[in-house]
Amino acid sequence: MDINKDDQLIKASELVRTSRVGVHSHIRGLGLTDELDPRPVSNGLVGQLRARKAAGYIVRMVKDGKVTGRAVLLAGQPGTGKTAIAMAIAKEMGEGTPATLMSASEIFSPEMSTAEALTQAIRRSVGIRIKEETEIIEGEVVEVTIERPATTSGAKAGRLTLKTTEMETIYDLGGKMIESIIKENIAAGDIITIDKATGRIAKLGRSFTRARDYDAQGAQTRFIQTPEGELQKRKEVTHMVSLHDIDVINSRQQGFLALFSGDTGEIKQEIRDQINQKVAEWKEEGKAEIVPGILFIDEVHMLTIECFAFLNRALESDNAPIVIMATNRGITKIRGTNELSPHGMPMDLLDRTLIIMTEPYSEADIKQILQIRCEEEDASVTEEALNALAELAKSTSLRYVMQLIMVAKVLCRRRKATEINTEDISRSYRLFSDERRSEEWLNRLSDQFLFHHGTNGQLNLA
Ligand code: ADP
Ligand code: ADP
Repeated sequence: MDINKDDQLIKASELVRTSRVGVHSHIRGLGLTDELDPRPVSNGLVGQLRARKAAGYIVRMVKDGKVTGRAVLLAGQPGTGKTAIAMAIAKEMGEGTPATLMSASEIFSPEMSTAEALTQAIRRSVGIRIKEETEIIEGEVVEVTIERPATTSGAKAGRLTLKTTEMETIYDLGGKMIESIIKENIAAGDIITIDKATGRIAKLGRSFTRARDYDAQGAQTRFIQTPEGELQKRKEVTHMVSLHDIDVINSRQQGFLALFSGDTGEIKQEIRDQINQKVAEWKEEGKAEIVPGILFIDEVHMLTIECFAFLNRALESDNAPIVIMATNRGITKIRGTNELSPHGMPMDLLDRTLIIMTEPYSEADIKQILQIRCEEEDASVTEEALNALAELAKSTSLRYVMQLIMVAKVLCRRRKATEINTEDISRSYRLFSDERRSEEWLNRLSDQFLFHHGTNGQLNLA
């Protein structure tokens, strides 16, 4: 009985451990050498060497911080890795650089104008690294004495003795400090820091010298060395915030809680002007550094001519991020006009855009990508099944076949096998339709659907 229970526990915990796997989760970077040469298969990326190398140059440009306001367009057929490369660029930029990934259709919403939505997206992608020097007092508590006043109305008084390896000082405590000492439960032997400006006390841990004093210390107690040198120290702290974060925090109707709800609404231009001025001052005084990041807009042909005009102007400002766009369209109409243009983008924006083309994959590349995806989804496949998947990808699409892996894995598990075989693949292929088959089916049954347009563009009214 007990053993059974344990078994179940183990299974439950294994279930918890299987995390969800996003479609690009296998991508960890661009997979380039220091000389920016692409390794054939690296960081989860396969092939597409020229595009990856070009992307590498863009990352280097942004990281050097010399350029702002450039536009890049990833152009290529669906499923040729445009989003994958954009994700890899964001990964390469590292933690410190803001990167916003969005689809052009997100610009259009009933809550705000397109200009506002674009402005927010742009300001999300520009970081401000704020440097602050603060004075702190850091040491080991030797003694805390808090004197209770004789009458309830009297103020409390107290003293705190702190030491480092070299010195010891007694501080008088005010009412606020006393409260936080009681709240934080500070006692002799604790190592603490006090922020001089705010009076905030933080407990860092307990002194090693006190390790054996108490029996009743929790397992989480952190033991650290008594600080050396002076009690008072200067410490530089840096914060990274985006311009948009600062906008939201300072916009009075919203307050910082809006950052968590994502419900930011429109922000007044005068607030932005004030913030721009403040940031410029900070920059002048050396307190802050502006870090242009990356704004990725997928399906960029969905933008209207007004949006493109707005983007074009925004790119001219000093602190614009690098805008990376992606599209799978050829020569098509610019939305909101009757003009034809490459990629559905106006010429004046195309003109200042670096274009990276992605190419269709060879069968070997597709097989390699599918192999990586199978590993990512923790699915083992037979060589035959992998070949079948790659073959299918040619007649359907890479993205469709990737979905099949997940289905085949479930089918495989249901027949209590560990390795996906061709039968699992073909069963999942029959279960779920790809785009071509569903289109054929719709056309075959066209007269049974209302308002069916047919592939020849003719409308059949049933
Ligand atoms: P696109 O944006 O060009 O339509 P995606 O980037 O969405 O194509 O590619 C489809 C799928 O194939 C995604 O899951 C993507 O992560 C993966 N993929 C595409 N190209 C590569 C590649 N070169 N290496 C690894 N995975 C890739
Ligand atoms: P850290 O870099 O130490 O993790 P954060 O940058 O996350 O700190 O700052 C903590 C919070 O305080 C964030 O929500 C950030 O938006 C806000 N914040 C920090 N500094 C400022 C500032 N100078 N102006 C406005 N908001 C700030």
